Amino acid sequence: GATIGILGGGQLGRMLAVAASRLGFRSCVFEPGADCPASHVAGQHIAAPYEDEDALRRFADAVDVVTFEFENIPTSALDMLDACGKPARPGRNALRISQDRLTEKAFLTELGLRTAPFAAVDDEIDLAEALAEIGLPAILKTRRLGYDGKGQARITAPEDAESALAAMQGQPAILEGFVEFSHEVSVIGARNASGDVACFDPGENLHEDGILRRTTVPARLSNAQRSDAVLLTGQILNKLDYVGVMGVELFVTPEGLIVNEIAPRVHNSGHWTQQGCAIDQFEQHIRAVAGWPLGDGGRYADVVMENLIGDDIARVPDIAREAGAALHLYGKGDARPGRKMGHVNRVTRG
Ligand code: ATP
Ligand code: MG
Ligand code: MG
Repeated sequence: GATIGILGGGQLGRMLAVAASRLGFRSCVFEPGADCPASHVAGQHIAAPYEDEDALRRFADAVDVVTFEFENIPTSALDMLDACGKPARPGRNALRISQDRLTEKAFLTELGLRTAPFAAVDDEIDLAEALAEIGLPAILKTRRLGYDGKGQARITAPEDAESALAAMQGQPAILEGFVEFSHEVSVIGARNASGDVACFDPGENLHEDGILRRTTVPARLSNAQRSDAVLLTGQILNKLDYVGVMGVELFVTPEGLIVNEIAPRVHNSGHWTQQGCAIDQFEQHIRAVAGWPLGDGGRYADVVMENLIGDDIARVPDIAREAGAALHLYGKGDARPGRKMGHVNRVTRG
């Protein structure tokens, strides 16, 4: 059988490897960390830095298709794999655009989609100008490498500006106006090599301390908002000539939907699909990157997905006794605060 190569070895890679296995594929994970969640289930694990060209060549030789589960893979790794005749799906361009919040917002704006007002900030002068333009409250974010709300500082009063800039630790940043949303939703969309597009039903996301806490389906959306969300996701996928699954995070406001960010990979807010759909986001992604037709992602249940973060893992024995609760644990040993250890899908209607 063919081998799916997965760059990144976290829980998303683990669940992709499981889905690949279920479709008869082997998998090979490339991840610098020796003991990673995906390595426990993948057929092969190459543990080397993303800059290690020999290791990347070995990976390219071992796999038939390349994908990634992590958006901070250096684009140089994708270039190397491309040169070895193994271009990644999704492609380099989608990865590059979403790695930098500034290029990401410029891309979305270019497409005619709405984002929070934004401005690039490299120093005090930029920040003062950006604050004058955008106003308060606002959020200063590092342009690159942020996740789970890390690398962000809220500015609610002018005197917060200095400490917010210091929190960026000299990295290029972006100031975003604070969006007064009523709630947050996301669309998990998929596109295959033939250009077919399919989206899962939007999920409603609750964040706590910048980390996704819970996703609920169905989301509170009018029919018009629901079709807007799905259509704009299709626009993004098509514009990028995208192959694979993408997560699109949206703010719901009385004036319409505002795009927060896009993630060129399977997405935490799509984990509900494991119990809510015949074909979940992981299988959908493997289908897309393997050149298969997309599966039927229609939702047949109401689901609440709850992340198990840090100490939440201690609740597993209780959750295991709960009817209708499907546990997904990532096999991580160390339950550090803020670390995603697993999730539970509670099916509330069959
Ligand atoms: P992820 O783990 O989803 O990649 P991230 O670190 O990239 O997260 P964001 O999605 O930018 O962070 O922000 C995390 C959360 O902070 C958002 O889901 C939202 O709740 C809040 N937030 C971010 N930007 C804004 C904004 N401009 N206005 C209002 N709230 C915001
Ligand atoms: Mg993000
Ligand atoms: Mg986010």
